[in-house]
Amino acid sequence: MTDYPNLLAPLDLGFTTLKNRVLMGSMHTGLEETKDWYRVAEFYAARARGEVGLMVTGGMAPNREGGVFPGAAGLFSDADIANHKIVTDRVHDAGGKIAMQILHAGRYAYGPECVAPSAIKSPISPFPPKELDEDGIEKQIADIATAAARAREAGYDGVEVMGSEGYFLNQFLVTHTNKREDRWGGSYENRMRLPIEVIKRVRKAVGPDFIVIYRLSMIDLIPNGSSWEEVVALAKEVEQAGATIINTGIGWHEARIPTIATSVPRRAFTWVTKKLMGEVGIPVITSNRINTPEVGEQVLADGCADMVSMARPFLADADFVAKAMTGKSGHIAPCIACNQACLDHTFSGKISSCLVNPRACYETELVIEPAATVKTVAVVGAGPAGLATALTAADRGHKVTLFDRASEVGGQLNMAKQVPGKEEFWGLVDWYRTMLADSDITLALNTEVTAGDLSDFDEVVIATGVLPRDPQIPGQDGPNTVSYRDLLQGNAKAGERVAIVGAGGIGFDVAEFLVTDDSPTENLDEWLQEWGVTDPEAQRGGLAPNGPQPEQPARQVTLLQRKSEKLGKRLGKTTGWIHRAALKLKDVEMVGGVNYERIDAEGLHVSDGEARENPRVIPADTIVLCAGQISERSLADALIEAGKDPHVIGGADVAAELDAKRAIDQGTRLAAAL
Ligand code: NAP
Ligand code: SF4
Repeated sequence: MTDYPNLLAPLDLGFTTLKNRVLMGSMHTGLEETKDWYRVAEFYAARARGEVGLMVTGGMAPNREGGVFPGAAGLFSDADIANHKIVTDRVHDAGGKIAMQILHAGRYAYGPECVAPSAIKSPISPFPPKELDEDGIEKQIADIATAAARAREAGYDGVEVMGSEGYFLNQFLVTHTNKREDRWGGSYENRMRLPIEVIKRVRKAVGPDFIVIYRLSMIDLIPNGSSWEEVVALAKEVEQAGATIINTGIGWHEARIPTIATSVPRRAFTWVTKKLMGEVGIPVITSNRINTPEVGEQVLADGCADMVSMARPFLADADFVAKAMTGKSGHIAPCIACNQACLDHTFSGKISSCLVNPRACYETELVIEPAATVKTVAVVGAGPAGLATALTAADRGHKVTLFDRASEVGGQLNMAKQVPGKEEFWGLVDWYRTMLADSDITLALNTEVTAGDLSDFDEVVIATGVLPRDPQIPGQDGPNTVSYRDLLQGNAKAGERVAIVGAGGIGFDVAEFLVTDDSPTENLDEWLQEWGVTDPEAQRGGLAPNGPQPEQPARQVTLLQRKSEKLGKRLGKTTGWIHRAALKLKDVEMVGGVNYERIDAEGLHVSDGEARENPRVIPADTIVLCAGQISERSLADALIEAGKDPHVIGGADVAAELDAKRAIDQGTRLAAAL
């Protein structure tokens, strides 16, 4: 008997059956653009071997003008069909099913050729779109239908027509972007004509025995978004037009409400999909922040959907479903929804990977093979770098001892997990513990290692991490000044008014920690209220009429930095805005361009710029130092002095811009080569 009877139940679509209720949702990984089709094939085949019920590819453009950016991958020619066939063949050989997503970006296309229902520029692209005429609309429909026919020819099991997230089809649906007065605009009947026509023509192009998923925006989270009545009407028409499945889209890309970041509660939007259950006869999929089999099972048991979509969790672990099937769900590497190696990469023009699993999208390059010669390996430091090294080396058959002076594994991850909105880090540390317990690694906690202790090992890896940088502010030795470590570890308390020195990732985290008593990430109603989300049945687009209503800040916080640039500018590409907005909601004052003059009982004395103008005091009961990091290299240096040649990785190697992504990647790659 499985723990996940709903999740692992097959789904009969009439002409074909999916082996379980898990969809790997569409992700733009950048792999297709490499044109290395064997690499693309291995990415999907690995997930097919991992038993996922159905996969959806990254968005494929139906034509040049619809590509998300110039050069975006699509199915434009017979040569493209042959390339995609390499992928579908490999997936089918591995026992999987795969649908191709057809993504027309409309006014979100990052290029001068972009087209839209009306010539209204989007707030997230510099390119004003061209308003389509009747022939232009017909061309787009024909191109989408042709792309679907080519997908069938290329061996796909289906297509997903992207109708949500504010892309082309979505742009026709709402008056926010559709100001037309012809048969494609005005009344809702006219505004939904395009998506319906697209589905009809796609169905005609592919025949009856082919999966057609329509991704439908169920809560737009933008002004003048769809009403719930319109969502239901569209779903019914989409079904009539020939769709096999309806998938959920949450929020337009331009929405200022987080929908997938780590601070979004798990399954935060499944209640929206549930409202559609019973309105249509075809299966409905729900999505967003579902990242464990337990959550997926509960979502289905609660009747929120017929199937769940997870995307990033399949970067973190290709074997997600296989592990759930075999009673090994504790072994599933958890997606912590950080976006650091996936979406942040995509938006920087880099290939996606995963912070937790650097092999994601690098399956053909970063291969973990049994070691030719078994060695004894000492790894000092059980933070992310050391853990990744130890587990990968042990996986390869090496005899590994992992040392840490702390009483638990996880290093800096244990601090991150204390931050409201970063609760997913608890699961990551738990996963490392489970994997260590199931390995042959000798774990030596509470152990201070000296250079002499390491002389008998074949390989020594130093992953001793970082130490807080000393900002050397006169008066910082007083009782009102604490380090972020002491604060997050519970060894120090903060007063009512707090000044934070340093506005990097940790300064922002500390500010969040100080202004929040109870994490809204753990309380869905509170979170929805904090961000101003309401039932789309009550308000178009699901935006609460009074806007965001956050809880009162727990403290009065001022966040400072010496640079004069906008605070938080260097935070994650896709998540920085959320951190900035969250602190703004809590009235955190952000001050840049300061000099720290001194600290005394009044608070933090600062001045502005090189001329040290405007001397003033930021009144504070507590000053928290978050002034960055320096490498902890004492053991590495002692070994080098003794003539040894240790491998130095993670923060001990380079402290600047250290994050768990780099640490885990470096540790995994080192261990793969030991
Ligand atoms: P950081 O991002 O390098 O920020 C250090 C902060 O300290 C900066 O605001 C810097 O600004 C200030 N600073 C540097 N030298 C100083 C000095 N001598 N005196 C006073 N202030 C000084 O480092 P961090 O905040 O410790 O974070 C460490 C790493 O963890 C970073 O790479 C970060 O990206 C990562 N992290 C990321 C997140 C995330 O949200 N993704 C969260 C936590 C941590 P000025 O020089 O302008 O004063
Ligand atoms: Fe999930 Fe972060 Fe990995 Fe992206 S990088 S898949 S968000 S854990």
